[in-house]
Amino acid sequence: MNQDRADERAMMVQTQIRSRGVKDARVLRAMEIVPRHLFLPDEYSAIAYRDHPVPIGHEQTISQPYIVALMTELLAPEPGDTVLEIGTGRGYQAAVLAAMGARVVSLERIPALADAARVCLQRAGVENVSVFVADGTLGWVERAPYDGIIITAGTPAVPPALIEQLALGGRLVAPVGTADLQELVRLTKNSDGIRKEQFGGVRFVPLIGRNGWKL
Ligand code: SAH
Repeated sequence: MNQDRADERAMMVQTQIRSRGVKDARVLRAMEIVPRHLFLPDEYSAIAYRDHPVPIGHEQTISQPYIVALMTELLAPEPGDTVLEIGTGRGYQAAVLAAMGARVVSLERIPALADAARVCLQRAGVENVSVFVADGTLGWVERAPYDGIIITAGTPAVPPALIEQLALGGRLVAPVGTADLQELVRLTKNSDGIRKEQFGGVRFVPLIGRNGWKL
């Protein structure tokens, strides 16, 4: 992968991510490796490593680095795991998951963003991410079941299809709540049911689809 601006990433990991309690060494390493600036529109490249979300066009945003790291730590993908992401944007979160050794299927409803993501992933040298244009609230049954599922848009409830497509022992991480404020939730699927844990308030753009928010 492109190692430009490695010093800025090391600083980002130290001051924004490790300092807030993300500990998983594999996550910290992935955040140091993936060239976040290559996933932003050129006009925002300069501010790629700052502690806030950044616009990516089409009224969407790339999440703050800390939130990407936290959700990745909660998902805890192992090398070789198959992970489904809902909401590709320009592909940054998918690249972080791929850097941890996951095989990533990522769904995006806006075709122009899916195209941009493919370009960004290629110029960053990321393999193992397949981007499809689809309503992610229905999941992607072709590659199910998934060891991990991550929803990177705010949803009123976790779409049932996604719980169905989760493997036994699999984890699903999502922001669940109202359009303005969500709770970061992790569901773990076991033989005796679904365990739910909560990790605090977050703000995401809306998940729009058949089993999300309606347009
Ligand atoms: N994961 C991205 C951030 C994505 S922002 C990153 O790392 O930068 C949320 C994305 O979810 C937007 O691109 C939006 O278009 C997309 N989205 C919203 N509803 C969706 C749906 N039902 N299916 C697929 N993508 C959806």
